[in-house]
Amino acid sequence: MRKKVIAGNWKMNKNAVEAENYINELKELVKDSTNEVVVCVPFIALCKAINAAKETNIKIGAQNMHFEEKGAYTGEISPKMLRDIGVEYVIIGHSERREYFNESDETVNKKLKSAFEYGLKPILCVGETLTQREEGITKAWVTNQVRLALDGLTNEQIGNTIIAYEPIWAIGTGKTASSEDANEVIRWIREEIKNICREVAENVIIQYGGSVKSENAKELFEMSDIDGGLVGGASLIAEEFAKIVNY
Ligand code: PEP
Repeated sequence: MRKKVIAGNWKMNKNAVEAENYINELKELVKDSTNEVVVCVPFIALCKAINAAKETNIKIGAQNMHFEEKGAYTGEISPKMLRDIGVEYVIIGHSERREYFNESDETVNKKLKSAFEYGLKPILCVGETLTQREEGITKAWVTNQVRLALDGLTNEQIGNTIIAYEPIWAIGTGKTASSEDANEVIRWIREEIKNICREVAENVIIQYGGSVKSENAKELFEMSDIDGGLVGGASLIAEEFAKIVNY
């Protein structure tokens, strides 16, 4: 049976001290959870968050990384740098990175390979715009994103990739995909993975993301194919995020 992974994505919110306080509050609230609890914090908060999360069941993730180990890439952070300080997870290809920072399917693919090379667990984000949904091309778009992202990965790496299906129109808008619609797209994603690598498809954890909150988490996460969530806004308050984790 696949484990549920509930990951918070703080985006560009909270400083290092706020991160430490948050983790100290969250650890008591989620200590009995059997779900995987991940909090993806800004780079400057990683060290404090990792320290605060020691000897707890909370894992810390970054929200992005470069695919190179080092070099002349001013302002970037490498996967080795993340690994060296004890980061476990990294979000790859969030729609905000694709939209505002020109991330392409090609760089997403490079980042995935690099994350595995440096022992990081990637959370790969895919999802369609409202226009694409209205045009009826959600399945083609999302499965193509998945195919391009996973291109050239080993079977084992594919099996260890966490995928977050995040319809862009549902991110930060308060609009959530219906649990049936989210489950259907996630099933299409799993079918696509079966086409690429049948042996591991049933192991791949596929989350839903897009305005998840404590009121809708249970309904979403109890669907047959939804293996947890990637949570933005509602992860900023420890008590609310804990309710989602303990749905
Ligand atoms: C996200 O940041 O990935 C996200 C899903 O945000 P929100 O939960 O705020 O829609």
